[in-house]
Amino acid sequence: MSDVGTEANPLRVAIIGSGPSGFYTVSNLLKQSGLVVEMDMFDRLPTPYGLVRAGVAPDHQKDKSVTRAYEKSANNEGFRFFGNVEYGTHIHLSDLQKHYHQVMFTTGSPFDRNLGVTGENLEGSHSATEFVAWYNGHPDFADRAFDLSQENVVVVGIGNVAMDVARILCKTVDELKVTDIADHALAALSQSKVKNVYILGRRGPAQAAFTPPEIKEMGEFAEADVNILPAEAALDAHSQATLDAGEDKNAIKNVETVQRYAETANEGKPRQLHIRFCVSPTELIGDAGHVTAVKLVQNDLVVDDRGQQKAVATDREEVIPAGLVFRSVGYRGQPLPDVPFNDSWGTIANEGGRVVDDSGQPVAGLYTAGWIKRGPSGVIGTNKTCAQETVGHMVADLDAGSMFTPESPSAEAALAMIEARQPDFVSFPDWKKIDEAEVTKGQAEDRPRVKFTQVAEMLAVAKG
Ligand code: NAP
Repeated sequence: MSDVGTEANPLRVAIIGSGPSGFYTVSNLLKQSGLVVEMDMFDRLPTPYGLVRAGVAPDHQKDKSVTRAYEKSANNEGFRFFGNVEYGTHIHLSDLQKHYHQVMFTTGSPFDRNLGVTGENLEGSHSATEFVAWYNGHPDFADRAFDLSQENVVVVGIGNVAMDVARILCKTVDELKVTDIADHALAALSQSKVKNVYILGRRGPAQAAFTPPEIKEMGEFAEADVNILPAEAALDAHSQATLDAGEDKNAIKNVETVQRYAETANEGKPRQLHIRFCVSPTELIGDAGHVTAVKLVQNDLVVDDRGQQKAVATDREEVIPAGLVFRSVGYRGQPLPDVPFNDSWGTIANEGGRVVDDSGQPVAGLYTAGWIKRGPSGVIGTNKTCAQETVGHMVADLDAGSMFTPESPSAEAALAMIEARQPDFVSFPDWKKIDEAEVTKGQAEDRPRVKFTQVAEMLAVAKG
């Protein structure tokens, strides 16, 4: 038994990343009875909340209300936020080992996966990651440009991110201007010439990665119809049998909605959303360096040796004209200095959230939660149980005395180190000034907030 975690010697935890899994780490640690804990959370951006701010779609404000619970956690005495402080640039593992007993990495999966087809790097071909970050006002993406003068857009992948991207492209300015979409995106989208948006799923409706509310929402556009080919909405015998088994409630609801769309008459709205199934891009065709079309192959579904239905290409090809293409086929984590990484999975190497070395042995003091632990899956709430599992291990290891032995385990010493490395750090009260300024600006326009999209603007408000 160690005496760490008592009034005399609080457990000191550094949390790298301020998204949902970072904040669920905080709330889980606060729940541990009898544990006295001090937590310092770091983020490379001046603003907290990770994908809740920069990933959740602006027209999904309800999903963002989780920040109220995060704020409650942040208001605890043992919590401090250090925004604008980057792990690997301003602070390093060797610094953290001097002031903390445990370090938790909750840095998410910021990179997109590639399609691996010819033409993917043509102008006009982008990752959904960039587009999402751009319309959400992420400072690293604020100056990106997307050619919305194109009439035909293809979105590859059929998960919820693809749904978000297609929704933003299909909505009218009136639908978007009541959200907290970045001003630059609203201005660009107000000039949009987009008429056709194609979402391409490589498997069938029963295997689609979107969730029931998201596919249902597609039928609610003011100015866009949903088109699904009846032949592609129909299920093959194996998919039907799997659905009839009744276990996958989401798939049952998804298929109902898809088949309803396939039967619904087109109302001739100005924009058309085409949701395609069992098709894969095989090439992005270009002219003068710019994408002009996507070559597709139609797929058959074949049951593999694990009983999963896989897409297998046929020889039936088609070409869809498109001047703008977004790939939305999942995310990958970014390796962090001094932290073992599993390159095939794109996650920190870990067992249940305990970071492990090359031989699979836990590295004392290092932990992870969220997408960088398990990969990019689940909804915001999934990170709660994910963090809970890791915190369980942190507490067990604390009891067993397995952790760092910091030479200066004090809040003051850590603060002195951070001030020396990044004098422009943003505290939680500083963030509240940014938050208040954004919300006040939003009230004047009947919007939830108007976001600052440049770090310099944020710092001016925080420090001014
Ligand atoms: P996702 O749910 O994993 O979907 C990825 C999609 O890409 C799947 O349809 C997958 O098809 C397809 N795909 C993968 N490789 C492909 C390839 N080479 N060619 C064609 N298609 C390919 O990922 P995501 O959409 O990025 O979402 C990440 C997570 O965030 C998910 O858990 C999602 O639910 C969550 N999220 C939730 C919300 C919300 O709750 N509203 C919003 C956004 C994101 P296969 O199934 O065939 O592999």
